[in-house]
Amino acid sequence: MRRDMHHEIPLSRPDITGLEEDLVLQTLRSGRLSIGPMVEEFEALVAKRAGCRFGIAVNSGTSGLHLAMRALNIGPGDQVITTPFSFIASSNAILFTGATPVFVDICPRTLNMDPAKVEKAINAKTKAILAVEAFGNPVYMDQYRAIAARQEVALIEDCCEALGCSYKDRPCGSFGRVGVFGFYPNKQITTGEGGMLVTDDERLAEMCRSMRNQGRPLNWRSAATGSTAGTPTFASWLKHERLGYNYRLSEINAALGVAQMRRLNSIIERRQHIAEQYITRLAGHKHLILPTIDRDTLMSWFVFVVRLDASYTLEERERVLHGLRGHDIGCGDYFHCIHLQPFYREQFGFEPGMFPIAESVSQRTIALPFYNDLSTRDIDSVCQTLDVLIGRENLSKR
Ligand SMILES: *Cc1c(COP(=O)(O)O)cnc(C)c1O
Repeated sequence: MRRDMHHEIPLSRPDITGLEEDLVLQTLRSGRLSIGPMVEEFEALVAKRAGCRFGIAVNSGTSGLHLAMRALNIGPGDQVITTPFSFIASSNAILFTGATPVFVDICPRTLNMDPAKVEKAINAKTKAILAVEAFGNPVYMDQYRAIAARQEVALIEDCCEALGCSYKDRPCGSFGRVGVFGFYPNKQITTGEGGMLVTDDERLAEMCRSMRNQGRPLNWRSAATGSTAGTPTFASWLKHERLGYNYRLSEINAALGVAQMRRLNSIIERRQHIAEQYITRLAGHKHLILPTIDRDTLMSWFVFVVRLDASYTLEERERVLHGLRGHDIGCGDYFHCIHLQPFYREQFGFEPGMFPIAESVSQRTIALPFYNDLSTRDIDSVCQTLDVLIGRENLSKR
């Protein structure tokens, strides 16, 4: 087979080994494809890593966020403070319940919500703070936690981008009343599709377990399988105590997750190494802003996102992205501000200029290829191409 010198470098790629294949195949052959031992093991592994007592696996991060809102009894008339600089799901989960998202602008250095602005936004209708680790950076989580405690509102941690991270010796997932992870294929680990709630709150965990399973009572298992008892065998399986959903994660997906969790330390080491290589090559570049990571932070690196400095326009950034893709280098422009998404503008009347820092940042980000087996040669080639493309003389020529 001929190996081209020039090949495509994708933006992201899942890392699946023989271990994942073995566990998935074993699960397929077990005859048990839902509600079984793989889900339980996966929950235990993720909860432990996040420093929480309970893990509740669900079929996506978005489902997990929805259940977190429901379990905290958030509904119409309530306000939830959150960031406009995130993936749409964090804010949509607030809308699912009929509550209102209240956006606050981010800090330009860290890209997370400005804690002072969070505190200022709290009023009598505020029910919770939904904090997101943007690009997996957990900075300020301790401050949001303190604000939530002081103001007596719940902190929900959307840690979908921060599995395996910690900040000031506290693991991500454990800062709020509840944390939510996501396992889409571009995350640190994947289950294909999937998510997980983590919490120390037993009642909240039980609510989430019931709601992910059509609102069934928690003792459905003993009633449905312990048929020797005189009690009606399937009565519980067909009993629905609250409004629930089918947000269950299959055993097949959970098997993938168990294998990935067993490899998590080596995955994080690899991602750390790739991030360091990017930083070594790009640090000091006069037009690029690199991610700023506090000394108190242990990153697990969801993505590697650089920014053009303020002298670049949105159109110029688009030309850089176009140029990278022309060289078969995958790249991304996340995030687009949530408040400027068409649906949000129409529904709530948001306008450009309302959250100027988030808007300015979102016009200048460039997500570079980032995955576990990205080679040093490919990192070199990405950095060289990027350097040429953002050169002023080249940008104005086109
Ligand atoms: C990935 C992600 C989610 C969840 O996404 P799903 O595709 O539903 O698993 C939620 N919030 C943030 C910030 C994310 O990055």
